[in-house]
Amino acid sequence: MPEISVKDIKMVDLASQYQRLKSEIDGAMQKVIEETTFISGPAVKQFSTNLERYLNVNHVIPCANGTDALQIALMALPLTAGDEIITSAFTFIATAEVIALLGLKPVFVDVDPNTFNIDVECVKKAITQKTKVILPVHIFGQCSDMEAIMEIANENKLFVVEDTAQAIGAKYTFKNGDQKTAGTIGDIGTTSFFPSKNLGCFGDGGALMTNNIELASKSKEISNHGSKVRYYHDVVGINSRLDSLQAAILNEKLKHLDDFSSRRNTAASYYDKELGSVKELQIPSRAKNSTHVFHQYTLKVLNGKRDELKKHLEEKGIPAMVYYPVPLHQQNVFKSTMLAQKLPVSELLASQVLSLPMHTELTNDQLAYICSQIKDFFNK
Ligand SMILES: *Cc1c(COP(=O)(O)O)cnc(C)c1O
Repeated sequence: MPEISVKDIKMVDLASQYQRLKSEIDGAMQKVIEETTFISGPAVKQFSTNLERYLNVNHVIPCANGTDALQIALMALPLTAGDEIITSAFTFIATAEVIALLGLKPVFVDVDPNTFNIDVECVKKAITQKTKVILPVHIFGQCSDMEAIMEIANENKLFVVEDTAQAIGAKYTFKNGDQKTAGTIGDIGTTSFFPSKNLGCFGDGGALMTNNIELASKSKEISNHGSKVRYYHDVVGINSRLDSLQAAILNEKLKHLDDFSSRRNTAASYYDKELGSVKELQIPSRAKNSTHVFHQYTLKVLNGKRDELKKHLEEKGIPAMVYYPVPLHQQNVFKSTMLAQKLPVSELLASQVLSLPMHTELTNDQLAYICSQIKDFFNK
């Protein structure tokens, strides 16, 4: 095996991706700088249109980050303090933070042990008179069981907000063969363009997507100080815009998003093939009706040695991360305000999961080195 410079292996290699796309991205940024159209410039409008086309959705509303997108989505819906939002316990804090911030009540439910996505049977059991929204998170890059979630929502007259921060570009297939992109199935979808996300900009960025014109218009108004006409304000809003520079970068990177997804899938297949036979590991399961865009490649370490494996890899120059070490119902911020709750799958996952380096620039030599170090650890 050729010598690998271990410093080259990163969880996410933004530098190498930039080098590969440098001329396009630099050109797009230079144009914004010369036009000095930094806020709400033509690049932002162009990006909305491009992403609408890519996702096959009627409205994309860009905003400042993925957390704001969630907040705006919940502000746009007719909710009042105390309303309950059912969401996954196994996700990033942003999902639940905005619920609490708006005086709404996050109701955490458990996830499927194989896909790590919200468990629809648990969703059903958590519905009360106060439930207004189901907020599935398409975790690690594949869609939640959206057909079942939409059925539950329709039966109970609930809204559905999809947190698509990790799954932009994933496609969900319904039983009748219809296919929709992640984020465009429920009432509103939200996403993030944080640099390490599958479609990342060079700072913070986010967007909402919807086919509902009223929700689109309300979201746009809220993101712009509650204003439709400049200096006239009808509702309480926030200041949440996507910078034109970020939009210009995203316009270039969006052209490559399918290629990014395919590169991630190639790396995932390599890991699967090499690690599938290691009996102490479970490789990622594929959800039955969704494509996977591999925001993360997340193993389950079944023999209790997750932390030791992580340390071993780090000693060999291989980063590996635990997403997520503490499920949300056990976080200090929520623990104190909620009744003690047991979510056994999320709790077990927190002790088993390990995400390996996953990005668009992984080489076969790097993948071979990573896999051989993992196998060495278990063969010791
Ligand atoms: C990254 C992320 C967010 C938040 O996005 P930001 O742009 O960082 O605010 C929300 N939900 C999930 C699941 C995420 O991974």
